[in-house]
Amino acid sequence: MSDDQQGFSTRAIHAGQPPDPTTGAIMTPVYLTSTFVQESPAVHKGYEYSRSGNPTRTALESCIASLENGRHGLAFASGLAAEDAVVKLLRSGDHVVAGNDLYGGTFRLIRQVYEQFGVGLTVVDTSDSRALRDAIRPNTRLVWLESPSNPLLKITDLAEASRIAHEHNAIVVVDNTFATPYLQRPLELGADIVVHSTTKYMGGHSDVIGGALVVNDPDLAQRLAFLQNAAGGVPGPLDCFLVLRGLKTLAVRMDRHCDNAEKIAAHLSRHPDIRQVFYPGLEGQPGYEVAQRQMSRPGGMISFVLDGSVEEARRLTSLTRLFSLAESLGGVESLIEHPPTMTHASVPREQCLAAGLDDGLVRLSVGIEDADDLLADLDRAIAGCRASAAATGLRR
Ligand code: PLP
Repeated sequence: MSDDQQGFSTRAIHAGQPPDPTTGAIMTPVYLTSTFVQESPAVHKGYEYSRSGNPTRTALESCIASLENGRHGLAFASGLAAEDAVVKLLRSGDHVVAGNDLYGGTFRLIRQVYEQFGVGLTVVDTSDSRALRDAIRPNTRLVWLESPSNPLLKITDLAEASRIAHEHNAIVVVDNTFATPYLQRPLELGADIVVHSTTKYMGGHSDVIGGALVVNDPDLAQRLAFLQNAAGGVPGPLDCFLVLRGLKTLAVRMDRHCDNAEKIAAHLSRHPDIRQVFYPGLEGQPGYEVAQRQMSRPGGMISFVLDGSVEEARRLTSLTRLFSLAESLGGVESLIEHPPTMTHASVPREQCLAAGLDDGLVRLSVGIEDADDLLADLDRAIAGCRASAAATGLRR
């Protein structure tokens, strides 16, 4: 069996990571070196300087490319550094169509950094194919998709959206951070570039910041590798090692994240104090059928709106004990946050409201603790919130 026919978990543990040929070390060495000695000028063993390439980074890049079923992987210092390399493919006068419910930092990067260099941006609900088609202009070069989206977990039909974008010769970028390649592989659905914040599920232990790109097209790979080296947003070797170590358990962690999230989403959807739950695994949700088709499971992220005031929602995020109040997601531990004032504070309020992001929205990153403990934690916090609201007359 060739290596690329091996299963996902096998590749997560072995792809790009043969035992170290000099010592037999089973773990990829952390090559803490900035430069590499050359035999004679420009004659070397494949590495010259660690911004251009480092063996620990090569192992990570090969492993991520293999998991996405892509040909070329590139690792970056953060998800945003990876995104920045993609936007640098553009020229002044080019236009981007992006989802109206995507990570706030992506929106900030294009609007607040690249608009001044002449890059235009239109945000649209990409789960609506007609709206996506209508937003594309003759100068649209990039269509930026996030599915499930952040924080409303909307599902975009990636195959359909890629078809529409390609009719207009636009490059399709999919941020696959929420799903990970274990649940969804956008290149197989027609995307040109997959973006990751490896800070999240891929690293998986909330101990590293990193990013990655995966592509199939050799020309695109070469242009992005040029930008990676020319702009220099690369990860250090220890960070690459941490993400590689995280990847080894990605499959088992994702199964547990999904098991727990499915139980919690079902519980919240029956809870009398919850007005609305957003989770692509709940039957009847707008993206349910497409999610069933393009994802193997619905993932570990849930958003919901409490049946109460915005103040109550904010208070709830401080009352949980196992769900820690923090930004980020995808670690083994459960997190809770209030997107309007935290992860999405950089998105204008009108855009949030237009996308359907309620001021009282709460987002959960469901960890891999015992599901019963997580359910009890949420129930206790919701009850506590209700009791204090009743006492202060806040409930509507
Ligand atoms: N994409 C998504 C979906 C994210 O949630 C984030 C960060 O929260 C990013 C990209 C940016 O990644 P990083 O924080 O590693 O720069």
